[in-house]
Amino acid sequence: PTILTMEANVLVMGAENVGKSALTVRFLTQRFIGEYGDLESIYSRSLDVEGRKILFHIWDFPSSHGQADQDSTEEKRIQWADGFILVYSICDRASFHVLPTKVQFIKVAKEGQSPEKVPIVIVGNKRDLGHHRAVSIEEGRLLALTLNCDFYEVSAAEASHGALMVFQGLAQHFWQARLPP
Ligand code: GDP
Ligand code: MG
Repeated sequence: PTILTMEANVLVMGAENVGKSALTVRFLTQRFIGEYGDLESIYSRSLDVEGRKILFHIWDFPSSHGQADQDSTEEKRIQWADGFILVYSICDRASFHVLPTKVQFIKVAKEGQSPEKVPIVIVGNKRDLGHHRAVSIEEGRLLALTLNCDFYEVSAAEASHGALMVFQGLAQHFWQARLPP
């Protein structure tokens, strides 16, 4: 039998220190190593979802510190990507508040493509730090609903299933977008 395969580029975005690298490494290795530094890389991993194989290329980059070329660099990354993971920390309200602007930026950059073909997932990370919670799960859900994004609350530190769900959800969007209307 033919095995269906496809490839998809995924950009991981969000404020500094929210766990973008931790989530990426979790998905790639099932591990949490604690410190990730400022490396920038495109990683690849394939995933089998319901008998179909999808090869993800995942671009994890350190948040920039206001370089002049910030917008055009971000624009290039966005054009490269087929789908987006927007991460905030449930302990950091500021990281939550930057998300609408980022979603808007993506929608403008991808104008002309139907929104169903540009999946954006909002991820509230650090769920294990409930005693430091600054953003409720309801707020997260509501924002995602408003922006027409999928939503997950996860802990990259605690478990692998959160990161896996995020990518499985993206895979489903990519497969659907590929089917004829
Ligand atoms: P990035 O700047 O968004 O790439 O964030 P990192 O992945 O480098 O993580 C920033 C810090 O938060 C590191 O010290 C991680 O160990 C920590 N961290 C990341 N994810 C979690 C999580 O789910 N729970 C907890 N408790 N710490 C986390
Ligand atoms: Mg990082």
